[in-house]
Amino acid sequence: MDIERNSCCFCGRSETEVRRLFVGITPNTFICDDCVENCADLLYDEKLFNNVKEDTNKKNKNSNKGSLETIKKIKPSDIKNYLDEYIIGQDEAKKTMAVAVYNHYKRILHKDEDDIDIQKSNVLFIGPTGSGKTYMAETLAKFLGVPFAISDATTLTEAGYVGEDVENILLKLVVNADYNIEKAELGIVYIDEIDKITKKSENMSITRDVSGEGVQQALLKIIEGTVANIPPNGGRKHPQQEYIQVNTKNILFICGGAFDGLSNIIENRLNTSSIGFNAEILEKNTLKYDEYISKCETKDLIKYGLIPELVGRLPIVARLNSLDETSLIKVLTEPKNALIKQYKKLLQMDGVDLEFEKDALTEIAKLAIEKNLGARGLRNIIENIMRDVMYEVPNDKKISKVTITKENVCNNVKPIYKYKEKNVKVSA
Ligand code: ADP
Repeated sequence: MDIERNSCCFCGRSETEVRRLFVGITPNTFICDDCVENCADLLYDEKLFNNVKEDTNKKNKNSNKGSLETIKKIKPSDIKNYLDEYIIGQDEAKKTMAVAVYNHYKRILHKDEDDIDIQKSNVLFIGPTGSGKTYMAETLAKFLGVPFAISDATTLTEAGYVGEDVENILLKLVVNADYNIEKAELGIVYIDEIDKITKKSENMSITRDVSGEGVQQALLKIIEGTVANIPPNGGRKHPQQEYIQVNTKNILFICGGAFDGLSNIIENRLNTSSIGFNAEILEKNTLKYDEYISKCETKDLIKYGLIPELVGRLPIVARLNSLDETSLIKVLTEPKNALIKQYKKLLQMDGVDLEFEKDALTEIAKLAIEKNLGARGLRNIIENIMRDVMYEVPNDKKISKVTITKENVCNNVKPIYKYKEKNVKVSA
């Protein structure tokens, strides 16, 4: 005999198949715990969405006119001059970017004037770790006063896999634009480690088995320009959710990577093509990464593992060189917010002067080169040197000056402390 069981009016499962079944007021109405949870999720998303929408409407009233008006007056040379204040070297990349950014915003400002539709030109940065790729993208956004977001391509997955949907990149931009969608739609997105999602880089994570190609495909659309649906609280999309819509048509995408091994591909190509050129290259068998990278062509990137469609959507290539010893010393001392200036300021707050001897700076640059991290390694090296100083200085009001020496950097000997009354060198 069939026993008639109570069941959830939403999913149809019977009371034996669920943990809890709640009874409604009207006869034979039930809802299970799972369906209650699902409904709660939907309500939560909706509330968040409405909050975002409300916020957006408020903020859009003071729309982005201001920043576009400012951008209108900017010339490529203004962009380059500003970059010069912060970024050492990389002249070619700075010029390329200055022109790319100028054209990008010109295209937005003068759209609809005639039938000619200027295509969007996103940018590919090729340069070793710590050469200033992220920094340049960030500095540009700061200069233009547009929102900026950084994303790591290796955390992205194609739809349906565990990991971040590509749309989450845009959510970061929206958050950084204070939920002003119009403003976000004029922003700059930097996608780092684009070289790690090549066709061959499989199994990027132990939790999934996704080929880089799928992620490249997923990126294509948003880079080219589409109306993307973004889950307002990030995470994965689900069907009944409401989305924030962001049009990516005017967002400037900059993808960057070190492309280790790309120089070998270029080297091979050059050695097997035009004879005259071969001879020249073969003679200089000491050609370094930088010199090969400067000869990079679309086909090299495709051979490296980027899909042709993605390369096509990144038509502007800016190459950044590795920073040599002299450049690294300049990075330490010259830019507006150079590391040494920052530490000097920190000690000044305690009434103490800080000096780095020239030899010390050279050794720091050498150490960074050894670590193969470019300018990225500098901060960590200086932090290690400065840790004890910054610990001791506030304890001793008599210290008037600290001098960092070569011995301090190389052999961990203590720096020279100058006291208000006398000159004392404290040895290790
Ligand atoms: P990557 O090329 O790996 O993206 P980053 O741009 O993140 O390197 O550089 C790391 C840090 O090193 C930056 O925040 C910046 O302080 C410094 N830096 C790197 N390159 C330069 C440069 N050319 N001029 C000045 N500072 C630089």
